[in-house]
Amino acid sequence: MTDIKTHILVTGASRGIGKAILDSFGGADVMAAGHSTSGEAGLLKSDFANSDEVSQLWQDALERLDGRIDVLINNAGIFDPNPISDSDTEWLESWGRTMQINLTASAQLCRLAVQHFQERKTAGRIVNIASRAAYRGDSPDHWHYAASKGGMVAMTKTIARAYASEEILAFAICPGFTMTGMAEDYLESRGGDKLLKDIPLGRVAQPEEIASMANYCALEAPASMTGAVLDANGASFVR
Ligand code: NAP
Repeated sequence: MTDIKTHILVTGASRGIGKAILDSFGGADVMAAGHSTSGEAGLLKSDFANSDEVSQLWQDALERLDGRIDVLINNAGIFDPNPISDSDTEWLESWGRTMQINLTASAQLCRLAVQHFQERKTAGRIVNIASRAAYRGDSPDHWHYAASKGGMVAMTKTIARAYASEEILAFAICPGFTMTGMAEDYLESRGGDKLLKDIPLGRVAQPEEIASMANYCALEAPASMTGAVLDANGASFVR
C-alpha cells in the first residue's frame, strides 16, 4: 500500500498560500493545481468566475491524475473591495463575483469530489481554506468576502456530517492575516505596524504555517477530527 501515491488537487496554487501548500507535498504525492491566468508549467488553467471552467478543471485534473483524486484542497480566492458607496450595479456585480469565485466554485468542486469518492467507494478528504473573517467579520468594504468564507465553513461542516460514514472527511482552515501579496496590500492600506498591535503573537502568519495545517488535514488528521475548523491567527481572534 505504501507505494500508492495520494492524488491531490489544490486550487490557487500559482502563488501565496496555495503555492506553499503545493510545495509542502514535496513531490511525494501527485497533484494538479488550478489557477486563472499565469499558465505556469504544470499548473492547470481555470477561471473560477466561469462555472463551466470549474467543472472542466475537475475533468482535466482527473485526466492528469489517472482518473483518481483522493484529496481536494479549495484554496483559490479573491479579496476585492466592494464599498457600499458604489452603484447598485457595481456593488451587486462585485458581490456576485466574490461569491462565485470564493464559494460557488469551491462548492462545485466539493460536489464533484464527493460524487467521485462515492462512485469509487473510497475514502476521500476535502480541505477548505476559509478565513478568520468567517467568524470575526471583515472590513466595511468586505461584507461579501466574510459572507463567502462563512458559507465555506458552514458547507464544510455539512459535508463532514453528511458523509463521515462513507469515510469522506472535511476540514476548514481559517487563517488570519497571512503574508502573501494579498495581505501585504492590506497591511499597507491599514497602516502596517498598527494592525500588528491587534495580533498578540506580534506578526502575521507565514504561508508555510497555513500549508502545514492543510498538509496535515489532507494526509494525517485522524478521521474523528472531521468537521473541525482550525484557526491560525496569532490569537487575534480566539473563539
Ligand atoms: P493570493 O496570493 O492572492 O493567491 C490567490 C490564488 O487564487 C492565486 O493562485 C490565483 O491564481 C487564484 N485565483 C484568483 N482568482 C482566481 C480565479 N478567478 N479563478 C481561479 N483562481 C483564481 O491569495 P492568498 O493570500 O494566498 O489566499 C489564499 C486563500 O487563503 C484564499 O482563499 C484567501 O481568501 C484565504 N485567506 C488568505 C488570507 C491572507 O491574509 N492572505 C487570510 C485569510 C484567508 P492566479 O495567480 O492565476 O491569479
